[in-house]
Amino acid sequence: MSSPSQDEQLITYYQALFRAWGRQRWWPARTRFEVIVGAYLTQNTSWTNVGIALRSLRAAGVLNLKGIRNLALPQLESLIRSSGYFRQKARRLKLFVAFLDTYYGGSLNRMLAQPTEKLREQLLGLNGVGPETADSILLYAGQHPVFVVDAYTRRIVDRHGILPATAPYEEIRQLFQRALAADVQRASAAPAVADLRTRNQKLGNGSAGAAHRPSAMGTAKRSALVQIYNEMHGLIVGVGKSYCLKSKPRCEDCPLQSFLPQASTPG
Ligand code: SF4
Repeated sequence: MSSPSQDEQLITYYQALFRAWGRQRWWPARTRFEVIVGAYLTQNTSWTNVGIALRSLRAAGVLNLKGIRNLALPQLESLIRSSGYFRQKARRLKLFVAFLDTYYGGSLNRMLAQPTEKLREQLLGLNGVGPETADSILLYAGQHPVFVVDAYTRRIVDRHGILPATAPYEEIRQLFQRALAADVQRASAAPAVADLRTRNQKLGNGSAGAAHRPSAMGTAKRSALVQIYNEMHGLIVGVGKSYCLKSKPRCEDCPLQSFLPQASTPG
């Protein structure tokens, strides 16, 4: 179990990153189904490669439930080839559509309206869906209040002495969820902080960190809790992509540099 100071640390990190970079506008997509396809395709590859695959699907007019359902497997494989592991990913996308058809009559509305824990369990039972993918679907397609833990999150909490990189996914997820939920509660009880947040939101030009251009899903309406989980994950990706590199982290330029334990610099 974490100490209260871990929670405070994470809130401070969130505030520092948000002040530095503003809104990140995750997840970049036009529809919920596109978020789900992207969540599958982004496994073990860069977003640049996913973007190419998504554009191919869109150009072919099949970046939708009906399109993926009706597409022959070899054609689907060919269209998503750029995302790597394309045969495996094509099969998994087909399995997702079969799951949606079987349990929810092909309705994303019905699927995403399920209670968070029930749907999470179901998604985790699908071939190729681990906690990061399940939580990405829940948070970014369904606006469910879950935090997404990725490799960047693990690296940052490890280097800052909060939790080891090998800590169970659930332990890290629960820590972030609890800390950020407390911040949302505090902000709603303290207008001054909320005002500051609004001002920051206006100031944030969306051009730093891992910010995306405005999109229907990236700017969708959501609760304050979902918003902060969404934002924090985007901010962490920004840290991981540009500063907290696997080897030779760029701590000197990172907004979290002043929070390093005992001013240590990881090698
Ligand atoms: S780059 Fe350095 S300061 Fe930034 S998160 Fe990583 S370890 Fe911390």
